[in-house]
Amino acid sequence: EAFNANVAAAKALNAFIVETPEKALDAADAADKAKAAGETLGPLAGVPIGMKDLFCTQGVQTTAASHMLEGFTPTYESTVSGKLWAAGAGMLGKLNLDQFAMGSSNETSYYGNVISPWRRKDGGNAALAPGGSSGGSSSAIAARLCPAATGTDTGGSIRQPAAFTGISGIKPTYGRCSRWGIVAFASSLDQAGPMARTVRDNAILLEVMSGFDPKDSTSLDLAVPQWEANLSSDLRGKTVGIPREYRPDGLNAEISAMWDRGIEWLKDAGAEVVEVSLPHTQYALPTYYIIAPAEASSNLARYDGVRYGQRDLPDGAGLQDMYAATRAAGFGPEVKRRIMIGTYVLSAGFYDAYYTQAQKVRALIARDFELAFEKCDLLLTPTAPSASFALGEKQADPLAMYLNDVFTVPASLAGLPAMAVPGGLDAAGLPIGLQVIGKALDEQTVLNASLAIE
Ligand code: GLN
Repeated sequence: EAFNANVAAAKALNAFIVETPEKALDAADAADKAKAAGETLGPLAGVPIGMKDLFCTQGVQTTAASHMLEGFTPTYESTVSGKLWAAGAGMLGKLNLDQFAMGSSNETSYYGNVISPWRRKDGGNAALAPGGSSGGSSSAIAARLCPAATGTDTGGSIRQPAAFTGISGIKPTYGRCSRWGIVAFASSLDQAGPMARTVRDNAILLEVMSGFDPKDSTSLDLAVPQWEANLSSDLRGKTVGIPREYRPDGLNAEISAMWDRGIEWLKDAGAEVVEVSLPHTQYALPTYYIIAPAEASSNLARYDGVRYGQRDLPDGAGLQDMYAATRAAGFGPEVKRRIMIGTYVLSAGFYDAYYTQAQKVRALIARDFELAFEKCDLLLTPTAPSASFALGEKQADPLAMYLNDVFTVPASLAGLPAMAVPGGLDAAGLPIGLQVIGKALDEQTVLNASLAIE
């Protein structure tokens, strides 16, 4: 009875779109057999992993949490998921997410919102957002349904859900993890990464997930460092930069206090702390919300009712009618909003005013980081401007929702590695998260500082 109650509670979180326990059991059996035969085990032998439903998985439905891709069963495996299976892991199921990874609360999913396992001390039993877009991943890990999951992060979708649910997750340097076989949102920003309860687990997973892939033209042809073997919480000799623009007037007092505690923890680990400036920070959010929709509108043009998933063919309809009907029914409101913004900023009359300008500002934001990293080895900031909020609270106001990403999008625009790590609980008893941002390719320092905080 207790077991059934637990299963019912777990299912009520709505974290999984498809469950594949047989695959996880097969991996566990294979690990047992290999062990009995004295064979060397892969680094993830028998570990059950939740797979964000943005990764194409051979023979298992992949929807990007959209109606558009309902019933789409890939005939191939994404590079990153394939690497996890090759390391011995088994898939527990496909995890819910914001539709096409667009959102910060998991409320844009066609399969219903995911619920965080956390509750406010003072808020009755009101359901809270698990963050997004990787909200199925964060909720499943926080609820102990799986020890680890994949996420993808275009503007914060690994880090913000990790912060909302008291777990950790790292977005590596752009190009570390292959994007091949991951449903594309904004290709110049999309990165895969792990989410797990501990920094060490993240290091182990990231090592498996990273590596050169000739099938992704932006994949970095570099050896994968031994992040786990080199983990150390000793930060002597390291300088931590505190970007002053991340502490605007009106920053939530509890977030601000958490940040101060984080600074003390890094000092205790031996680091020096300096203030730095990232002067173009205020332009990061508008820049992101031009570039990401622009790329999305182009990437999503492929969903035409011919090649993937759904087709709506009204009686007597011609080709154009079929496109229109398929896209009208297949995409949810947030996806349509992004496509409209994207096609607008890319249109002949507005391209220079918006898209070209955004690309220039993106370069300035990347330069801010380069200059700051002349004075320090890593940056410490909050991950999100608040703790989790109630489901429905921000759904009607896209701008309020986009503001959630204010601390995560700058590192995305600059392609830098960034990790969310728990920073404690707020007065309502909800998790709040710190963010460590590193130099390009310096995931080691990011992981080490996160370890010192954890
Ligand atoms: N919340 C951001 C958005 O809606 C980031 C999403 C992501 O990183 N996939 O675009």
